Amino acid sequence: MRVVVSPFYRLSTLVVSNVYLLDGGRGDRWLVDTGHWSERWQLLRELRRAGVTPGELTGVLLTHRHSDHAGNAAMLQRDWGAKVYCHRDDAAVLDGTAPRSVMGARGSLLERALCAVENAVPARLRIDRALDHGDAVAGLEVHHVAGHTEGSVLYRHASTGCLLTGDTLLTARPPLTVFREVTRAHDAFSIDTAQAWAALDAFHAEGWRYDHLLAGHGRPLVGDARARVLRALDRRR
Ligand SMILES: [Zn+2]
Repeated sequence: MRVVVSPFYRLSTLVVSNVYLLDGGRGDRWLVDTGHWSERWQLLRELRRAGVTPGELTGVLLTHRHSDHAGNAAMLQRDWGAKVYCHRDDAAVLDGTAPRSVMGARGSLLERALCAVENAVPARLRIDRALDHGDAVAGLEVHHVAGHTEGSVLYRHASTGCLLTGDTLLTARPPLTVFREVTRAHDAFSIDTAQAWAALDAFHAEGWRYDHLLAGHGRPLVGDARARVLRALDRRR
């Protein structure tokens, strides 16, 4: 586990996607995303090494419903009594009350294969608290940015300038995150890329400030992140 900007830590042995611990001390410990189910043991081991029992998590915040982010949420809820939070529109897909958009119509062979796995083995659970745009939880503002999924969100931690972006804004090109670059929701894995990009543009146009970017894939950008993101996105327009 590595500190990004206190009180945010990245569970650094997970490789499929990023999981962050927001550690405000006992009674104020939150996970942002849970990783893929295949990295369940890495997740539990990292928490144990950090001296955090899953049962003492105050809650689990999902950036979106995809199984590489929500894949261990049902386990944490069932085995450890964790309360899971997610935007209302992804909560409805996770519990089966709304239809699931099938992915994999476009992209490379590898991308379509990964989409087929997601379609076949999606994350499923009943969310404890559905979030809406404008809500606040754990000191984080909830910004709804639909497009990667129906209920994708950004979480902004105003007091530290951290922005957690899930798969709407990334610091590596999926799915092989060895290619480092600032990039927006990836077409092959998103239900509506244009909608996701427009939501991200609107977020920036509204003037929300942040200094550090904690993405769902790729290394965190620490310091001057907003300007670096805008420069990178401008180059790709
Ligand atoms: Zn995703």
